[in-house]
Amino acid sequence: MSVDNGVQTLEIELASLAEDLTSPGWHECVLCYVNRMIAAFGCDGTLRWTRRWRDRQAPRATGLERRAGRVGAYCDCELFLNGWDVAVEVVPDEYRGPGGGAGCLGVRTGTTQPCLVWVRINRAAGW
Ligand SMILES: [Zn+2]
Ligand SMILES: [Zn+2]
Repeated sequence: MSVDNGVQTLEIELASLAEDLTSPGWHECVLCYVNRMIAAFGCDGTLRWTRRWRDRQAPRATGLERRAGRVGAYCDCELFLNGWDVAVEVVPDEYRGPGGGAGCLGVRTGTTQPCLVWVRINRAAGW
């Protein structure tokens, strides 16, 4: 294999790796996904990861951003400041990822409800 070919292959692999890193898991819920993206790439002050998850996993959930606003979240990290916290006691050790973070317990495709890892910080229910 020539050097040029090697570089080209590497670039293709890096591109698909970047795509994988920002793709929601098969049954990953919106909150686990957004939490994972913030940990890796940070919050840019918008709901960009929430929107990305919605576009991939629940494209018909067009009211998701409005509902995020109702729980006081106007950017991705505010979902976790104002909306949800990890329910540590319900997360078995085997679901914890290599970084010590909780892995997603999984949700039905197309639902915007978070998995059982997450509990609302205040009493208000749901989104
Ligand atoms: Zn933020
Ligand atoms: Zn989850």
